[in-house]
Formats: sequence, C-alpha cells, structure tokens
Amino acid sequence: MYLVDYHVHTIRCGHACGDDREYIEVAIAKGLKEIGFSDHVPRFYSPPNPNLPVTERGMDEVELEGYVESVLKYRSEYKEIKIKLGLEIDYVPGWEERIEEFAKKYPWDYLIGSVHFVPEWNYEYILREKEHGPEEIFPRYFALVAEAAESGLFDILGHIDLPKRAFRTLSPEVMQELYQQLSRRIGTSAVVELNSYGIRSSKLGNGEIYPNLELLKLCRHNNVKVTLGSDAHRPQDVGTDYDKVSEILEAAGYDQIVTFNGRKQELQSWKA
Ligand SMILES: [Zn+2]
Ligand SMILES: [Zn+2]
Repeated sequence: MYLVDYHVHTIRCGHACGDDREYIEVAIAKGLKEIGFSDHVPRFYSPPNPNLPVTERGMDEVELEGYVESVLKYRSEYKEIKIKLGLEIDYVPGWEERIEEFAKKYPWDYLIGSVHFVPEWNYEYILREKEHGPEEIFPRYFALVAEAAESGLFDILGHIDLPKRAFRTLSPEVMQELYQQLSRRIGTSAVVELNSYGIRSSKLGNGEIYPNLELLKLCRHNNVKVTLGSDAHRPQDVGTDYDKVSEILEAAGYDQIVTFNGRKQELQSWKA
C-alpha cells in the first residue's frame, strides 16, 4: 500500500515531544512511503498575550529556519522514505499577505490551512469555547474552513470537522445540509486531509476520523481530493489508526490519494 503521513508536528511547537529523527524512524517502521512535517506556524496573527500558556504559542519565529534545515537534512539522509516539508498555518481572515510571505519564504511541498479558533470571538482553541454553543460553532467553523479553501492559500485543509471532538453535533438533517455546503464550497480548491487524530483524542468518547464518513462521501461526490495525516505530536503516533483510515477511504470510494512535491499535486493509487 502507498500510505503517507502529511500531518506531523515537532518539539518546536511547544506541545509535541521527541526528536525529528524518531518521527521518521516510526514512519519507516510502519511501512509508510512518505512522511511530511507540518509543524504549527508561529502565531503571527494574534495579539501578544502573556497569559497564553507556552504550549499554545506555536513555533517561535526564530525556529522556523532550523525546522526547515532539519527536514531538508533528513530528506537527503534517508533514502528509504520520502520526506516532505510542510507547515500547518492557522487560517485567519485579514492575514492573507502574511501567509503568502510564509509561503514564499521556504521550498514547501505543501501548506495545511487549519481553523483552530474563530478570530472574531477570541483566539482560544475552539474546543475550549464557552461563550458559544454547537449551534453557532459548527456553521461558523465550516464557513471558515470553506473560506480557507476558497482563499487559494493552502494545499490541504486540516481536520475539517474538528469541533465534533468537544461538541455534540446538531441534528442529522442540519449536519447533512452543512456538510453539503462545505464539501461543495471546497470542491477542487484544496485537498482535504483524513486526519486520524480524531480517533484518539475525542473528549466525548466517540472518536472518529476527521472528516467523518458522511462528510467524506459528500466530498467524494463533489470531487474533493484527499490526503492522509495522523496529526502526530509524539513519534509513536505517526501513522496511527491507518487501518481505519484505509477502511474509510474504501467506504467513501476513494482509490487515490494526493501526494505533494513543491506544492504540486500528484494522484497516487494508495492500494498499489
Ligand atoms: Zn498541535
Ligand atoms: Zn491543527
């Protein structure tokens, strides 16, 4: 099988552990064909907040250079696996120029655009949102994800139904309608990641991949392409639950995944 893990963090973000090399070794041991690092971008968009725990400050901007160097160094060292250079960037409307600056600065293979908070509410992680309930959270979150796709800034969209990790979903009819709109708006403007972090991190005991099968089927229907990631913050989490990832790919009718080189997409049959 041709499986890749394109969502991998490093110790630099403040809430991950291990050495870059250990992540690569796990990927090789699990038989992955590619590993892509995609650490959190420095928090350029939020007002300085001394109360923000250090674990949430993201990578320090001065560490970016060393991060890129490390990934490129291992790429030339390891021949048994392809190593890709990526970055996970928060999508915050109004900061498009700054995001473009990051995009130009290094030879990225791909950029993941993720929504972690609703900027007009606050800069707190959405999963800790207290002022707004699921009726507001789900539509607003999906609208931001759709905007991220339409912005054309990103190659991949991260964990597109993240709020389900902490909030009960709305009625099936309402969710269905929201999923329809979201998948239609994404279309071919960005690739959606199947992110296995949803399985191991649910706060409600109903862990499932981001996105769930219903949403993924609609993505397929609307010609949305997909790629794979574990959102590993520890070396041992690289490629975790990929048996479930391949099940859901199969169930949604995806024979191909997307791989990236220098921000160019290539379709790859994953069963090969
Ligand atoms: Zn993280
Ligand atoms: Zn994320």
